Amino acid sequence: MTDLTETIISLGSNIEREANIAEAIRLLRRHRGIEVEQVSRVYRSTPVGSDGSPDFYNAAVLARTSLDPKELRDELKKLERALGRVRTDDRNAPRTIDLDVVYYADRVEELDGWEIPAPDATTAAYVAIPAGDVAPTFTHPATGATLAAIAAQQVADTCGVTPVPDMRLAPPHTARGGDDWDTHTDVYAPKFESLVYQQLLELGEDPEREGLARTPQRVAKALDYLTSGYSTSLEDVVNGAIFDAEGAEEMVLVKDIEFYSMCEHHMLPFFGKAAVAYLPNGKIIGLSKLARIVDLFARRLQVQERMTNQVAEAVDEILAPHGVAVVVEGAHFCMMMRGVQKQESSTVTSAMLGTFKSDARTRSEVLQLIQR
Ligand code: ZN
Repeated sequence: MTDLTETIISLGSNIEREANIAEAIRLLRRHRGIEVEQVSRVYRSTPVGSDGSPDFYNAAVLARTSLDPKELRDELKKLERALGRVRTDDRNAPRTIDLDVVYYADRVEELDGWEIPAPDATTAAYVAIPAGDVAPTFTHPATGATLAAIAAQQVADTCGVTPVPDMRLAPPHTARGGDDWDTHTDVYAPKFESLVYQQLLELGEDPEREGLARTPQRVAKALDYLTSGYSTSLEDVVNGAIFDAEGAEEMVLVKDIEFYSMCEHHMLPFFGKAAVAYLPNGKIIGLSKLARIVDLFARRLQVQERMTNQVAEAVDEILAPHGVAVVVEGAHFCMMMRGVQKQESSTVTSAMLGTFKSDARTRSEVLQLIQR
């Protein structure tokens, strides 16, 4: 990415708040247009206009983004929806997650119904204090005050915002806020970055040298993406794209579906092509969905045989067809780079269900079509 812009995003949640704050950070970190640089401590705050709704947890991230302010806001809305946020007219209703652009570089702008910097950056302790954590020397573009000073003002005003002592989002090597961090317990997966950091040490590397300084975050982000199949459901992937097709009996075959996965034995990539065929029984699915189903199972730690079976069983489950055939051909880095070093070898696996299994002629027909 080029031309990244510094931005500060605030997070708030008062429904399943520990899980939602943590998951929101993970989604931000995974986003292709957002590089999370710093994560604040988590704070507890009493809701505005409180009528007995639960306290909020609030946090902030400092990030760099390739998105313009409007795109960034739209992406944050998408993440909110992904976390189950339903926007209502009641501004103070409990919510699973609130994600807002607080600052965007030194921009001062009124956009369609919202502003940067966010007005509550200076008026609300639950925004100002976490923001002061992640970027104390950043200055408010309109007033010139540092975020540390704005946060200190809110603290002095006895704001009712307190750190949550047992919840830490930032890995130790990027944490701000002093030694007290070390007495806290991690409850969130950003441990991940610390583990990669440890791994670099174990390899005899200097994790602080320039080229490696951001490697733990990059690895965490890459692995989040490469294993995103764990947090995606078959239902999400299919998303209603199943159609009635009375009388459709002809075989449907999609081949040369590229996939990238990681072997569970060595955590090294294997990749190749998959072919998925089925014999409809009154229902068909959008063709692109077959590729997405392959991705769903490829983006995990896998063995090729299991991945092949899982794809076949998923198609069987959603379409109840007369038969399903899946053939996968993969090249495994763990064989190519190490051990036997068989660079040219590839592994072919197949799964046959229904008619493809019981009828040799149908099976050989599909295999011929795949090999063509
Ligand atoms: Zn392996």
